[in-house]
Amino acid sequence: MNKINIDFLGYTKNIYLNYPNVCPHCGRVMSPKLVSVSNSDQKFTPKHSSFSLTFKCSYTDCQKYFAVEYIATSESQARKVDYSYRPPVNVNFPAKIMSLSNMFASIYFQSAIAESEHFRFNCRGRVSESY
Ligand SMILES: [Zn+2]
Repeated sequence: MNKINIDFLGYTKNIYLNYPNVCPHCGRVMSPKLVSVSNSDQKFTPKHSSFSLTFKCSYTDCQKYFAVEYIATSESQARKVDYSYRPPVNVNFPAKIMSLSNMFASIYFQSAIAESEHFRFNCRGRVSESY
C-alpha cells in the first residue's frame, strides 16, 4: 500500500491506498508515476469522502496521464472508484421482443453501443456464449 497525505476540510489525514497497476490507455501492467494529489473539498467521512490522484504510465512508449478517484473506506484507507468512461446508451426496446429472443436483444444492445462509439464493423458472425 502507498501512503498519501490528503487535505480534507479542516485537517490533513494520512491515507493508505493502492496505486492502479494497469494503464487505462495501453492496457499494460505497470507501476505508474504519481504526478499530483488533489485536496478534498469535503470533511473527512469514511465511505463518503473522495479525492483524486493523477498518474502517468511508466512505459516510455505510452507515458499518458490518467486520473483516479479514491473514496475513503475507513479512518485511514481508501479504495479506487471504478469508472467506465463510457456514456450510458439508452435503448428503448419493447419488452415483448426481449421475451421472444434474448439473443436478438443482446445483439441489438451491442450494436447500439458500437454505434455510439462509432464502430463501423463490429459483427464477425461468431457467438462466444450459448443462449
Ligand atoms: Zn500506458
